Amino acid sequence: MLRIAVLTSGGDSPGMNAAIRAVVRKAIYHGLEVIGIQRGFSGFIEADMGPMNLGSVADIIHRGGTVLRTARSEEFKTYPGRTKAYANVARFGIQGLVIIGGDGSFRGARVFHDEFNVPVLGVPGTIDNDITGTDYSIGFDTAVNTVVEAINKIRDTATSHERTFILEVMGRESGCIALTAGLAGGAESIIIPELEFNIDEVCEKLYRGYKRGKLHSIIIVAEGAAGGMEISKVISEKTGLETKVTILGHLQRGGTPSAFDRILASRLGARAVEMLMSGHHKHMVGMMAGEIVTCPLETAFAGKQPIDMDVYNLAAVLSI
Ligand code: ADP
Repeated sequence: MLRIAVLTSGGDSPGMNAAIRAVVRKAIYHGLEVIGIQRGFSGFIEADMGPMNLGSVADIIHRGGTVLRTARSEEFKTYPGRTKAYANVARFGIQGLVIIGGDGSFRGARVFHDEFNVPVLGVPGTIDNDITGTDYSIGFDTAVNTVVEAINKIRDTATSHERTFILEVMGRESGCIALTAGLAGGAESIIIPELEFNIDEVCEKLYRGYKRGKLHSIIIVAEGAAGGMEISKVISEKTGLETKVTILGHLQRGGTPSAFDRILASRLGARAVEMLMSGHHKHMVGMMAGEIVTCPLETAFAGKQPIDMDVYNLAAVLSI
């Protein structure tokens, strides 16, 4: 193997740059050449790509986002689109491809491999942490820390004004950010799409706390479970308590990656290159129980990472 390419695809996540850096430097260390593809599969189709060197990835380990930029490509979902991408594989002499992204990107990678037999390796990067085959995806830890920081700040004003705050966080289908940040931030209630919630119970708990003299309450809701505004309205109607809503939105996707995400990204990126060099294709690298592991690409989108019920139950006990 002489030349590989790397791209980032789908939603960006903090730590993707550290993964790009690891792929480029590990490959160069082993004497390979690296092509950087801009804007995910869109740039792949449009030949928006060029050689990378050690300097191309200097000073990026601490930056959020992705220097290769990312995109969603409808064209890559079509056979003619993927045929154009394959033409660039031949044109640029690409013998292996590292794709840093989420389960959608891995679906695309799998189809592309099956059609054109191009070796592909997936590196999980998504703040949602919903990919099976890895305990953690790159960016999740940073996003959780961002939410916890927001909870800390909201707590200050919630206490001063003796109010109930509702914090809406990202997670259309996954409550992983809400759950983890909710436990870390000491939220009173956590509402996630994976589990049915009973608004009366949420209200009762709030009211109990209020009667006990609790100065404030924080409720975390994942966007896929319900809208923060909607929850606020119902709670105010049912309890008479004043509630305020904060929707964190896209700021959860940005920011300097945590040390955990940088280390995870570095280890996964490097292992992806090793896998390609040793002829293991169509796999995803991940981390389980602290070890770097690999699994067939299909595993990444075969199911959905289940919610950790121990964490959910513990958060409920500790916020009683
Ligand atoms: P993520 O990787 O973050 O889950 P998306 O689901 O948006 O993001 O997928 C990223 C891109 O992967 C899509 O824009 C598309 O180009 C490609 N892709 C997704 N699913 C498929 C598929 N079934 N076949 C081919 N390409 C796909």
